[in-house]
Amino acid sequence: MSIITGQQYIKRINKMKNEIWIEGKRIDGDVSEQRAFKGVLKSKASLYDMQHHEPTKSYLTRYSEVHGETINFAFEKPTSIDDLKKRREATQLWARKSCGTIGRSPDYINTAIMTLASSLPFFEEKYTENITAIYENAVKNDLSFTHTFINPQVNRSPYSQINLLDSNQDKIIAAKIVDETSDGIVIQGARLLATQGGVTDELLVLPSGGDAINNDYAYAFSIPSNTPGLKFICREPFSKHPTNTFDHPLSAQFDEIDSVVVFDHVLVPWERVFLYKDLHAVGSIYTKTSLNLMLLFQATSRQVVKTEFILGLAESIAETISITEYQHVQEKISEIIVTLEIMKALLQKSEMSAIKNEFGMMVPNPLSLMTASNYYQKIYPRLIEILHLLGASGFITLPTESDFNSSISSDLELYLQAKNADAKDRVQLFRLAWDLTMSSFGTRQTQYERFFFGDPVRLSSSLYQAYNKKPYVDDIQAFLNNQ
Ligand SMILES: Cc1cc2nc3c(=O)[nH]c(=O)nc-3n(C[C@H](O)[C@H](O)[C@H](O)COP(=O)(O)OP(=O)(O)OC[C@H]3O[C@@H](n4cnc5c(N)ncnc54)[C@H](O)[C@@H]3O)c2cc1C
Repeated sequence: MSIITGQQYIKRINKMKNEIWIEGKRIDGDVSEQRAFKGVLKSKASLYDMQHHEPTKSYLTRYSEVHGETINFAFEKPTSIDDLKKRREATQLWARKSCGTIGRSPDYINTAIMTLASSLPFFEEKYTENITAIYENAVKNDLSFTHTFINPQVNRSPYSQINLLDSNQDKIIAAKIVDETSDGIVIQGARLLATQGGVTDELLVLPSGGDAINNDYAYAFSIPSNTPGLKFICREPFSKHPTNTFDHPLSAQFDEIDSVVVFDHVLVPWERVFLYKDLHAVGSIYTKTSLNLMLLFQATSRQVVKTEFILGLAESIAETISITEYQHVQEKISEIIVTLEIMKALLQKSEMSAIKNEFGMMVPNPLSLMTASNYYQKIYPRLIEILHLLGASGFITLPTESDFNSSISSDLELYLQAKNADAKDRVQLFRLAWDLTMSSFGTRQTQYERFFFGDPVRLSSSLYQAYNKKPYVDDIQAFLNNQ
């Protein structure tokens, strides 16, 4: 089959009948027709459709000699800097469709599957066939994945094990291995926080590094989202009117929905397991295979697109209400430009100074990507603040499209006009900025950019530890010695 169309993706997800719970009810019927999922599934479908038409097709697909067919770009192992460049261009092409707001376009976790399958010597020999088969199945059917690597947020105090069990220590909270049979391993408990949980073909479960204190928590596997006992419990949807893109231009189309994943004695067949009771591998799977870096490369490419979108929004607001002459406005928009240029430079450096890892994969420069991720987690809320400061009450005076179609439209036309736009165009622009920054969708975007790759505090620590500070310390000593 290889590259699928949007229609095929939607048909397949509907057919799976995954156990998805939302607003107190289990979804019954086609998930693509549910208010919560309609918009995002349509948007994802349009990404798949881009694989079939020029000029986007040549960016998003590759002819694979090995598979004898055309495959999605994310499944191709990069072996040259040119491959990385093409991968970045493809990611950015998809990201532009959602203004960078869909974090989990299919290339995100498909990149993880490709990376793991390209690192076979890392795994215990008996599991290498499994990871290869998971990859081959994904390529052949153009599958999409969600993933989880976090235990429930019960008690994060240092060395706490209460996080893993309930307070009486007799009920399992964090998902663990409770049994092993000739058919597979049995998992009981919960995991956070699968974005798009239930609307992907498969769930990739990766080890929860810090909490894997014993072998029962040391596992990794991928299973179909409709595996018996697997439940996705979703947060409240932000997409109120999935067809009204005037009122909710982003949330109507790109609300990915996040979910808690519950494993109720889920039997994971042996052929789906690729890491089992191996604490050493738990500690190193993300770095040794270059999984972290390949995911960061995708994320940084998307964040560049998102920053371009924010810059466009800020300048459009400033021009519409004619505030571009003020120096502080220019300074604020320059802050966005500086962010964009820093992110582009880091991304380009990561690409230009990529080197092959021990498994022959071309891997972008780690320090550039770690710096970009540390920086963006902290600067993103400031970019959002800048939009708030520029738009002021314009983010509040936001009638809906139905107001413009009512008998008060002449009032709106008069009082909400702007120097450089009529009332409706101005409201449409400000609603877009509001949806990125102030709606439930927008605040979730901020939380996403802060946390989706991990806790900013611990990611800063990782950068500190990875960075070779010695030459600079030696310089200080040399300077002091010469006084
Ligand atoms: C919108 C969104 C989407 C996400 N999507 C996914 C997804 O698809 N798949 C997935 O697996 N995960 C996803 N995540 C989860 C994400 O990986 C985590 O939020 C992130 O790793 C931080 O973990 P936590 O939320 O459990 O925070 P916690 O670890 O609970 O941290 C809470 C606070 O305590 C502090 N703290 C806790 N422990 C320590 C420590 N050891 N040292 C110092 N400070 C500490 C933190 O700094 C923070 O201030 C998503 C998160 C968000 C917000």
